Amino acid sequence: MSTAYEVTSEEEAAGRSHLRSFDRGAVREFVDRHIVPFADMYDRLGRIPDELLDRIAEAGLWAPFLSAEVGGAGLDMVTLGRVHEEVGRGCSSVRSLLTVHTMLAWAVQRWGSPAQRERWLPEVAAGRTLGAFCLSEPGAGSDAAGIVTTAVDHRGGWRLNGTKTWVTGGQRAELFLVFARTATSIGAFLVPRSTSGVSVQPIDDMLGTRASMLAEITFRDVLLDADALLGPSGFTAGMVLTGTLDLGRYSVAAGSVGIIQACLDACAAYTATRTVGGTQLRHLPLIQAKISDMVTDVRAARMLVEEAGRLKDAGDADTIMATWVAKYFASTAAARHAGEAVQVHGAGGCSPRHPVARLYRDSKVMEIIEGSNEIQRLTIAAAAYQGRAA
Ligand SMILES: Cc1cc2nc3c(=O)[nH]c(=O)nc-3n(C[C@H](O)[C@H](O)[C@H](O)COP(=O)(O)OP(=O)(O)OC[C@H]3O[C@@H](n4cnc5c(N)ncnc54)[C@H](O)[C@@H]3O)c2cc1C
Repeated sequence: MSTAYEVTSEEEAAGRSHLRSFDRGAVREFVDRHIVPFADMYDRLGRIPDELLDRIAEAGLWAPFLSAEVGGAGLDMVTLGRVHEEVGRGCSSVRSLLTVHTMLAWAVQRWGSPAQRERWLPEVAAGRTLGAFCLSEPGAGSDAAGIVTTAVDHRGGWRLNGTKTWVTGGQRAELFLVFARTATSIGAFLVPRSTSGVSVQPIDDMLGTRASMLAEITFRDVLLDADALLGPSGFTAGMVLTGTLDLGRYSVAAGSVGIIQACLDACAAYTATRTVGGTQLRHLPLIQAKISDMVTDVRAARMLVEEAGRLKDAGDADTIMATWVAKYFASTAAARHAGEAVQVHGAGGCSPRHPVARLYRDSKVMEIIEGSNEIQRLTIAAAAYQGRAA
């Protein structure tokens, strides 16, 4: 029988695994085959092996929303959200790498000059060059306006100085999207890792998304050509920041739906077999209550993400608020249900024996990245008062 995700015997022999389509079934098969069985091992290793990064490239999953001209598949945002949900169901560290790569690829597609697009888009579409997103600094996280990294004019180009931290994929990425202060605004710069003056310090042993290869990156008198700047000179990076963070938030929201689904799958399987005092857990009302809440919230969170995706596809600016809401709802629900999933598994849930321990740790990260819960609530509440007298 033919499946959505087919691997021919020649491809199998060559270790290749092309996706025939990006529908949910095809991506699910890819994730179940190449990610789910290994996610706990990646978590323990603290890294994603190159072998999987290459498989993702072969499957065309790094940036499938890019146009076919540059090697993408022209995927719409609703479908991209489903892809990131499925990957997030398998492993939040892998999904995190996809998220930051997506943010960089999208920024180049949206704001890159023809030369920048020609130089980088085929590379990032193929996954030959992996991207990372460098905004946070030791002294500036939620307050992005507080960044102190500078890019000053230097002989027709730029001299970059500063430190970026918590950079997902920073240990592995070859191209960094770096936000820095210029004389007139905040600029977004494309900085290849190989540039002189760039140094990468791994950050390991995080609570969650432990395999996402975080790094602190220092830029010391890094000299860049004029065309390292994304968008015309003097153009405020506010647009780039808003656009890329919105997309990152969308991806994290989708990944959080994946975490809820993974919690539900794990709990349904476990409670169907585990007996306590001669009764299967599935027959206990308090356990059923937890499962029913997971079923309800995963559907609600998925619908919110799909709504945000539809608005993106329609070019409707309301997608920004829809994405805030989706990310807030999905990430808090993921953290709540991951806690309950550990509870349902008892002591085993606190051990490496079940993936719920990893889901629990990963879910906490979702409440902090791409706009913490507190910032999300401030933004959502502010929108509720828009147009009313102060
Ligand atoms: C695993 C992981 C991966 C990451 N990857 C990246 C990456 O790839 N690139 C990148 O640039 N950054 C990355 N980050 C950083 C992330 O974006 C920041 O952690 C986040 O923006 C919060 O900033 P902060 O940690 O400095 O916390 P702070 O900004 O110092 O906030 C501390 C606490 O105060 C709360 N707070 C802040 N302001 C307010 C307010 N006005 N009202 C109420 N409460 C408030 C926050 O919600 C938070 O709970 C990553 C972080 C993690 C944990």
